Amino acid sequence: MSAARVVLATRNTGKIVELRRILADAAVPVEIVGLEEFPEIGDVAETGLTFAENALLKAHAVAGQAGLPAIADDSGLCVDALNGMPGVLSARWAGGHGDDEANLRLLLAQVADVPPERRGAHFACVAALALPSGEERTAEGALYGAIAGTPRGTGGFGYDPIFVPDGESRTTAEMAPPEKDAISHRGRAFRALAPLIAEAIGGPVARGGRSG
Ligand code: IMP
Repeated sequence: MSAARVVLATRNTGKIVELRRILADAAVPVEIVGLEEFPEIGDVAETGLTFAENALLKAHAVAGQAGLPAIADDSGLCVDALNGMPGVLSARWAGGHGDDEANLRLLLAQVADVPPERRGAHFACVAALALPSGEERTAEGALYGAIAGTPRGTGGFGYDPIFVPDGESRTTAEMAPPEKDAISHRGRAFRALAPLIAEAIGGPVARGGRSG
């Protein structure tokens, strides 16, 4: 019997590879395909007020159009001194969508006077599964840390050069990709969703596997 096909609502190959690896580790027998197999499905506007709303909006839109179970994630950086912002506005904090450099500069300027002990922040991610029937599941992941004084490192994307995870001296932009994947909010949310995917779509789940 062939594995059930599940669409991951992204055109980012890195996310597809990461989710395939996580589901293989959890022994969830599904085949993950990306949106490049569905060129007719357009971008879904992220109009939700929370990560969960946005992830569910995307997952339901893709499940409805593809006629297959769909997974989507939404993530962002939540800064304590900014009352949890930029949050769902992370990608467009400085105005233009996805201008990582401008977003990071604006955020650093906003917390310029905040002392080190009050620079706490976390990356948050919600991963959502939607079935064509309308059924849904969500799982969350977070990575706690602090905002650095100046950008460091060339890896990663977005706010990585100014985010230092708790217990680390390096920013996430100074970590090797597998090191960041192992602790990232997205990895944690996908790992938490794995058993829910198995339960909703069928198939065994490895006991004692990695989690959290
Ligand atoms: P999305 O979930 O792919 O829409 O990401 C939203 C935005 O949050 C990105 O454009 C980044 O600005 C920020 N972000 C989410 N995850 C990360 C991360 O792992 N590192 C750095 N920035 C991130």
